[in-house]
Amino acid sequence: MNSWRIETKCLHEGYKPGNGEPRVLPIYQSTTYKYDSSEEVAMLFDRPDKGHIYSRISNPTNDALEKKIAALEGGIGAMLAASGQSATFVAVMNICQAGDHIVSSSTIYGGTFNLFNVTLKKMGIDVTFVDQDASEEEIQKAFRPNTKILFGESIANPKISILDIEKFARIAHRNGVPLFVDNTFATPVLLRPFEFGADIVIHSTTKYLDGHAICVGGVVVDSGNFDWTNGKFPSLTDPDPSYHGISYTETFGNAAYIVKARYQYMRDLGNNMSPMNAFLTNLGLETLHLRMERHSENARKVAEYLDQHDKIISVSYPTLKSDKYYELHKKYLPRGCSGVISFRIKGGRAAAARFMNNLKLASIVVHVADARTAVLHPASMTHRQLTDEQLFACGIEPDMVRLSVGIENIEDIIEDIRQALEA
Ligand SMILES: *Cc1c(COP(=O)(O)O)cnc(C)c1O
Repeated sequence: MNSWRIETKCLHEGYKPGNGEPRVLPIYQSTTYKYDSSEEVAMLFDRPDKGHIYSRISNPTNDALEKKIAALEGGIGAMLAASGQSATFVAVMNICQAGDHIVSSSTIYGGTFNLFNVTLKKMGIDVTFVDQDASEEEIQKAFRPNTKILFGESIANPKISILDIEKFARIAHRNGVPLFVDNTFATPVLLRPFEFGADIVIHSTTKYLDGHAICVGGVVVDSGNFDWTNGKFPSLTDPDPSYHGISYTETFGNAAYIVKARYQYMRDLGNNMSPMNAFLTNLGLETLHLRMERHSENARKVAEYLDQHDKIISVSYPTLKSDKYYELHKKYLPRGCSGVISFRIKGGRAAAARFMNNLKLASIVVHVADARTAVLHPASMTHRQLTDEQLFACGIEPDMVRLSVGIENIEDIIEDIRQALEA
């Protein structure tokens, strides 16, 4: 690891051209790689970490982006996936199988909630949801002997609650399981969960890492800190019959988790990112530090504006003194809390719809974390499949609007909100 600061890493990590080589990361639009001898290829099937064989498993453009994201998070390795959903799926399947159990915060992204609550259950993996703000004793009650993961989001989508990562890490480690943190909203510029004890970080790169709403993608990052040899993870320690009987922990040491994710699950499931999307995501990442600063600054001002408006019931944004997560933001997010705000409008669901339809600058899109200001109604859009009870568990009210504040001029953003609230 070098000592560059995060802003410099956004630009320079991952790809370092040699003399006379392209200055900008090339797009290696190739499915396969040429070798001089069949022995070399045979060797790579034994040790696929020593070179590229096939782009389902690895590709030089993707490799550079993986190294950059791992460096930004302070991890030892990363693996890209086709979407945030597929990253979470591979991250979980890498250490869980039928009969296992996961404990998860209930305030998580709607897609992850459905993956856990419906699809994983169909596959025989049970999930218990907990209130992330409950006491350690209360959360502890959800653990079982077959629990393999504790899961949460650093800034939850869409409730904008902040996860007490140190508390969650203590609970996870006391139970001999890793803490997985979805760090999509915070990004490594604002918060690096490994510094507070998380073991695995997941991102939907679709959001701020790309930042321009052009590529769907995901990534899993390994801190290299978790001890997989504690007896709870035989799939990492015992011989893998699908890989010549190797033990991942014996062969790859503290990179066992991320190597297995790639060489077993990416090999078998094939939910890889295309090199073109890796190139575009890398381009977006080069300005992440500037964008997060402006997103956070603009959102703080919009939150303060909404907070004093008489048509607004409540605003969730952690820099507001009245916010439930004000104290936690000082500890975990001193540089800013990202661009996403949620708030409740007087007049229920209909008033929320009217407000959104009257916005002129902000657009109605099923997306967040874009350079352009966007707005969404979680109850009728992203979280539509959930029952009212599940909505409340995820922290969503029917009159709640989620605003993703962009990097436009702040006065234009506030003027747009003002006229839409008046209309
Ligand atoms: C969008 C999102 C996901 C899912 O990512 P996709 O790239 O859309 O599959 C997961 N977690 C969070 C917090 C998200 O906002």
